[in-house]
Amino acid sequence: MAGRLRVEERGVPEPRAGEVLLRVTACGVCRTDLQIVEGELPVHRSSLIPGHQIVGCVERVGSGVDIKIGTRVGVSWVGGTDGTCPSCVAGRENLCDAPTFTGYDVDGGYAGYAVARADFVHALPDELDDLHAAPLLCAGIIGFRALRVAGVQPGEYVGLYGFGASAHLALPVLRSWGCRVAVATRGEKHRSFARRLGADWIGGPLESPPEPLDRAVTFAPSGDVVIAALGALRKGGVVAINAIHLDRMPEFTTIRCCGVSVRSAASPT
Ligand SMILES: [Zn+2]
Ligand SMILES: [Zn+2]
Repeated sequence: MAGRLRVEERGVPEPRAGEVLLRVTACGVCRTDLQIVEGELPVHRSSLIPGHQIVGCVERVGSGVDIKIGTRVGVSWVGGTDGTCPSCVAGRENLCDAPTFTGYDVDGGYAGYAVARADFVHALPDELDDLHAAPLLCAGIIGFRALRVAGVQPGEYVGLYGFGASAHLALPVLRSWGCRVAVATRGEKHRSFARRLGADWIGGPLESPPEPLDRAVTFAPSGDVVIAALGALRKGGVVAINAIHLDRMPEFTTIRCCGVSVRSAASPT
């Protein structure tokens, strides 16, 4: 659909069994949406409504759905899974072998109405308004998951390498856990943003904070950054690689890896 993004009138879709119809109140924009629209990702459907950070109110429900009309919910990139593949059975449905991606395999949220699987919508707390909830449904989920994969414990010293959509949402989470946060990133704009959000140390993408880190998450798509993060860890520390694409896989021969772990937090989103 590259170059063919357009506004058009469509009828309100009908929820099938197990689905809900949402009146969309907000939908975030993610880099993946742009890649789909620009044709940088394989085409899954010739005609598609993009958008996978949907906030909406349940307007109608299909048969077998037990959600009250009017409930405000969010829909994320993972719009459905088979529930039967080894990843799903192991509780890692984000790695499902047969997933349905919102705004890619099925129509997404840049519309007045959207249909979603009822078991893949998330109830949203009232204190979170629509515009603040929407980015949490992709960038927020990804950043939070990276912290989980890194095994961050309350009070630890955590490095964030790269400071875009996911990392800046992860920083307040870390602070709420009583963690100190080091941000290594290029560009004064990102650094001053990190400073405003309360980062304890801020440096360049390949710099190391003066004290060793307990954990680090790399968001930048660079092998050099992974090496820098590994070099900044304490013994037994963990680096979680969040970037889906790295420019190259790093070599580990030039640094002392004292029992450090590298974990991949990336899943196809
Ligand atoms: Zn996304
Ligand atoms: Zn599965």
